[in-house]
Amino acid sequence: MEGERYAFLVEWYDSLAGIVRRYNFLFYPKDSSVEMIDVKNKRIFLKCTKEESIRLDHCYIGSSVNLHGRQLKFVEYSDTFTKTKLSMAKEKTLAIFKPDIMEKMPLLLEILCTEGLQICDVKTVVLSKSAAEEFYREHCAKPFFRTLVSFMTEGPIMALSLLADNAVSRWRELIGPTNSADARSQAPDSLRARFGTDQTRNACHGSDSVVSAERETEFFFGAGNSSSRGLQVPAEFDNCTLCLVKPYTMTQGLLGRVARDIVQAGFDISAMQMYHFDKSTAEEFLEVYRGVVAEYSEMVSELCSGACVAMALTHQHGSACVEQFRQFVGPADPEIARHLRPSTLRAKYGHNKLKNAVHCTDLADDGMLEVEYFFKILQ
Ligand code: UDP
Ligand code: MG
Repeated sequence: MEGERYAFLVEWYDSLAGIVRRYNFLFYPKDSSVEMIDVKNKRIFLKCTKEESIRLDHCYIGSSVNLHGRQLKFVEYSDTFTKTKLSMAKEKTLAIFKPDIMEKMPLLLEILCTEGLQICDVKTVVLSKSAAEEFYREHCAKPFFRTLVSFMTEGPIMALSLLADNAVSRWRELIGPTNSADARSQAPDSLRARFGTDQTRNACHGSDSVVSAERETEFFFGAGNSSSRGLQVPAEFDNCTLCLVKPYTMTQGLLGRVARDIVQAGFDISAMQMYHFDKSTAEEFLEVYRGVVAEYSEMVSELCSGACVAMALTHQHGSACVEQFRQFVGPADPEIARHLRPSTLRAKYGHNKLKNAVHCTDLADDGMLEVEYFFKILQ
């Protein structure tokens, strides 16, 4: 690791100039420093700077990172060292938590984290009949096809794009044999053994090859309008509030634990989705804090620094959901939270005032607006 340097070609769409700019992006894992060189004029664009928010596992072909408000897309490896070291290792797969296991979703997210499977993308959807038929089209002539389609459309599911060394086979191994009964005899620790019921209601899906993984990832996360492709957002818009798990918390692998605490506190997570903020969207979302909170521009940068996950929440006891959740999140400053309200989310998972674990809706009237912003407008 000492002194290693990784090199990538990255692209940034400069919306002011209306052109795509290309840079050689150099990353030094030793101290997380980054240097960028403009490909066109060979000039240094960013001199070597420590960038704590960037980690080597964020840097792979197809990913994007946000650096100082610019969304950089990783397009190619730019030297052989980087290529040989990284290209064969990392692989993506597509996982689904099926309708029968959505109650255990927080626990499953924690398992992904402890197993070292990185979540590159995630969303909850309800599949239409035709979308489920399309997803499982290879099985259309099988006797179990109708049963399978009706099972997969009975409620929300969670689709995840996972990244790891040999992700396809590792996730297949973790979920176990197709039939949950076989799983219990052959692989008792597997997820299908632990959480599945029979040969249909078997808790999880996993792509069977890299090629299937690409098709299935495109199916859920490809560009274009989801609802026109039969992927409906299950968000509940009545008496709701928004929780946004911030980028730093995501990089710490805390999504599952945060979700578990939220559910244990009596909230229901009706929908969840990952987003990458660019600077102008973050400014728009945080507009109400401009001129009010001294750290406004740092808040914007923090929100842009990586992936975050939005959750639409309701509460068992109805109407005061926004205020109830705000209480549960705790004071904005995690230090204060740890002194005054040690069981709150920010006390448990916050790092400092900016990296304070989650954003939550502040005003009762804004609950629905913020949930709609993520689960309708940004869709
Ligand atoms: N399935 C079923 N009956 C069967 C075999 C499969 O209902 O006899 C369902 C089950 O939910 C399975 C899905 O169809 O996960 C896809 O089947 P496949 O053979 O591709 O199994 P997988 O790849 O999911 O292990
Ligand atoms: Mg299969």
